[in-house]
Amino acid sequence: MNRYPDPSGSELKSAIAELHGVGVENVALGNGSNEIIRHLTLAYGGEGRAALMFPPSYQVYSVAAKVAGCDIIEVLRDETFSIGPAEIDRAKAHEPDIAFVCDPNNPTGTALGSIVVGQIADQLEGLVVVDEAYAEFSEGSSVGILSEHSNLAIVRTLSKAYGLAGLRVGYLISSTEIVRAVESVQLPYHLNMVSMAASTAALKSQSEYAEIIGNLIDERSRVIESLDKISGISTIPTQSNFVMFRMNQDAGDVYRELLKHEVLVRPYPDEPLFSKCLRVTVGTPPENKAFIGALEKVLAAF
Ligand SMILES: *Cc1c(COP(=O)(O)O)cnc(C)c1O
Repeated sequence: MNRYPDPSGSELKSAIAELHGVGVENVALGNGSNEIIRHLTLAYGGEGRAALMFPPSYQVYSVAAKVAGCDIIEVLRDETFSIGPAEIDRAKAHEPDIAFVCDPNNPTGTALGSIVVGQIADQLEGLVVVDEAYAEFSEGSSVGILSEHSNLAIVRTLSKAYGLAGLRVGYLISSTEIVRAVESVQLPYHLNMVSMAASTAALKSQSEYAEIIGNLIDERSRVIESLDKISGISTIPTQSNFVMFRMNQDAGDVYRELLKHEVLVRPYPDEPLFSKCLRVTVGTPPENKAFIGALEKVLAAF
């Protein structure tokens, strides 16, 4: 390691390109997908430019856009946390330079699919960034429609399905022009050789990951089924590795009581829409059982 790493990251890029059936020239690398998001806002945002988000969604988009000096525009998702023709029309009226679409959405788990993503890319003239951090847990991806939309950029990560958040590796799949724009704002040698070697090996172990992800999806069905059986609880349809559910109780109260049972879930105290909602990540079968057991006890005590 007394040598600089390969500045082009060609081995890792080849593994990504092969996995997604694209060219190496369609791939850019990042220290996690958050860095790709920042680099996209640096390349396409700036003073006097508008960045659009569809909340409730991932917070990093507006943080990155603000750092880049963009004006922030928000178009709320519909009541099912999806994006329909009305939301697309509203977004179009703002003529954003860059728009962020999280699919499946964090924190609701809602999946849009490539048909809706294609409609968004058709209607908006600016760059459309599709954050597919959880796509491995879902039924689809918009990688297949990239060639039909010159303004589409897809962002992926090894932090979720691959369980490699500590390596800090994410990537962009897009046109050569957008890839070049992102690489133009990156520092030379910004990805280290250890992370690149480890993530290349991980990406080449698809069959191992397919089994882990398959098991998680089965377990997700069991968690949803158990939650739906508890009276007063409804779940939001999810294609992610977490489930957002709504209760009659205050989410903060339930969150604190669950902590006493050593169960950690995610409340959203700053989002009024989620004052009675919690997000639970699907865990191992014993963890999920412990969660459901604790939740039943906690809710029975209210
Ligand atoms: C976790 C997450 C990321 C991943 O960030 P990394 O920087 O790749 O670890 C990106 N987008 C969303 C929506 C996430 O939930």
